[in-house]
Amino acid sequence: MKRSRLVAIFVGVFALSMTLAAYQQPPAAPQPTRPIDVQKLKDNLYVLTTSTCCEPATFSGGNVAVFITDTGVTLVDTKLVAWGPALLDAVKKVTSKPVTTIINTHTHGDHTGNDDKFGAAVEIVAHENTKTNMEKMDAFKGEKTQFLPKKVFKDKLTVGSGKDRIDLYYFGAGHTNGDAFVVFPALRTLHTGDMFAWKDAGGCDRANGGSCIAFPQTLARVVATIKDVDTVIPGHSPMMTPKDLQEYQRFMADLAAHAQAANKAGQSVDEAFAAFKVDKYPGYKNERVKTAIQAVYDELKK
Ligand SMILES: [Zn+2]
Repeated sequence: MKRSRLVAIFVGVFALSMTLAAYQQPPAAPQPTRPIDVQKLKDNLYVLTTSTCCEPATFSGGNVAVFITDTGVTLVDTKLVAWGPALLDAVKKVTSKPVTTIINTHTHGDHTGNDDKFGAAVEIVAHENTKTNMEKMDAFKGEKTQFLPKKVFKDKLTVGSGKDRIDLYYFGAGHTNGDAFVVFPALRTLHTGDMFAWKDAGGCDRANGGSCIAFPQTLARVVATIKDVDTVIPGHSPMMTPKDLQEYQRFMADLAAHAQAANKAGQSVDEAFAAFKVDKYPGYKNERVKTAIQAVYDELKK
């Protein structure tokens, strides 16, 4: 083949792929500007971070746990779709073994965005309500339905055995109505998903069955049931301890009680927000407190 013809084909393919890329990506899709940071927690457990909200170019989605076993790799969550290539790179950095299982802590796109990037044979596991919530997402329609969870659970599910065992728990509504708590017993580590995203009010996604009133009750069950851990992987912040989780339960209980009392007293959401004291919780922010109070008010309306 003549060189000029090769060049013409190359230019043609390039132009076509540019057009396809432009067509497939909404113009505002935030593109990553950096790789995903990797933190080693144990010999066979890593966390892929770069998960602190909200600058689009540097926010890759929720913390991903990479659990490496003799037979394959389990991921907990899969970040935002735009970060697919960066996620694959980060996983490759820590293991050459194939991903065989994906656990989704809940339905949101910053936790399920790349469920389809590891092949059709991967077993995807989630709470049964999360599967129902995912079925409503455009990302899991058409031929993508094959990447919906294949294995679901209601209250508890154990995957694997011995040092490879993973326990999944469901304790009730909170961030959504399908939040899984994922425990690696041999490594004494718990992934909370967005039931403990940060030291600020939790998000309560009422459209997906979330509840700011139930949130602290659900966390109280977690604290009472999951005992043998020393490391907590939160949804969107640096690693935490069980003590941090207990404090978070108290914070969310305080907030829910405060909002319900303010509502009963006829206060506005603004008044309730102004009267909520965040300073008794060191290191806490109140950037999401008003939204959570609003969620409680909305819930009380129905
Ligand atoms: Zn979420």
